[in-house]
Amino acid sequence: MYRITLIPGDGIGPEITAATKKVLAATGVEIEWEEKLAGETALKECGELLPEDTLASIRKNKVALKGPLTTPVGTGFRSVNVALRKEFDLFANLRPARTFEGVKSRYENVDLVVVRENTEDLYAGIEHMVGEDAAESIKIITRRGAERIVRFAFEYAVREGRRKVTVVHKANIMKCTDGLFLAVARQVAQEYPQIEFEDRIVDNMCMQLVQKPELYDVLVMPNLYGDIISDLCAGLVGGLGMAPGANIGTDIAIFEPVHGSAPKYAGQNKVNPSAMILSAVMMLKYLGEREAAEKVEKALAEVIREGRVVTYDLGGTASTLEMAEAIVHKMRD
Ligand code: NAD
Repeated sequence: MYRITLIPGDGIGPEITAATKKVLAATGVEIEWEEKLAGETALKECGELLPEDTLASIRKNKVALKGPLTTPVGTGFRSVNVALRKEFDLFANLRPARTFEGVKSRYENVDLVVVRENTEDLYAGIEHMVGEDAAESIKIITRRGAERIVRFAFEYAVREGRRKVTVVHKANIMKCTDGLFLAVARQVAQEYPQIEFEDRIVDNMCMQLVQKPELYDVLVMPNLYGDIISDLCAGLVGGLGMAPGANIGTDIAIFEPVHGSAPKYAGQNKVNPSAMILSAVMMLKYLGEREAAEKVEKALAEVIREGRVVTYDLGGTASTLEMAEAIVHKMRD
């Protein structure tokens, strides 16, 4: 029995969460959900975006599944997602991107994973004005930060049976910072002779991904390149409704779809639950429940391939819950 913190979130969050719970219940993996608030819902009910009670639950259970949160407009609100990342030192952002037959995309046979460093680089937020007409931002790369993310990428590749790790950088220009990242990557790679290793300069990487994404497997990179390339990869395979994600630290992990709370669709039971379900699949794999994870992923792929019970963004008319029920049905076949 796993006890897992569940944050349904805002907007469409509760609907895709209900759909995902239904699918997970059909795997037979016993999960006790501890439902907690965050985001706009928490602000309304408890007066804060990220209540201590929610943090305590994640700290205790060590694994959380999270729906999207609305960031209230106006000054003074920190992003809850950034706050969670900082609180639990979730240094690895994992974003798989794979093509599903039946999802409109320009490509076939794409199956790659972006591993983005989550805590350093230009996101360290060290910037200031230099007089009135210039500004400076400081890029931080540490040996420790680079080593743990590159090692994470290789360990992930080994665990998931992947064949290649590509490190993405701009070490030809940023010889100190990206140079250090690349040097550390080369060093760590030597410990994994069974995994092919290569490096790509980030601009070339973008072109290669657009031209022949099927050649790539696990990509590891500093924070800013990861931010941009992970969105590029989501675009390669059919966009937001299909993009799962995870933020992982040394002993705590939070799984969540990449998309936001899509407020205009809230309460309509209409949006695609796939990104949230695929985030739960990543969670099952993280927990070591590989068989259950593969069963869900296969059933989801089959439902999408058939195209009969899918949501509007996949060209269908099914509701969120109907699509989840079709996946459950397929799992029983
Ligand atoms: P969004 O991802 O919520 O929605 C953009 C559009 O994408 C939607 O209007 C819809 O057309 C489509 N879409 C998104 N999810 C879908 C799904 N599951 N199925 C089908 N279509 C889907 O982005 P936004 O409108 O820029 O942001 C809305 C709110 O979400 C904002 O408050 C933003 O801060 C927040 N947000 C939260 C997260 C998070 O919690 N991880 C991520 C991004 C945005």
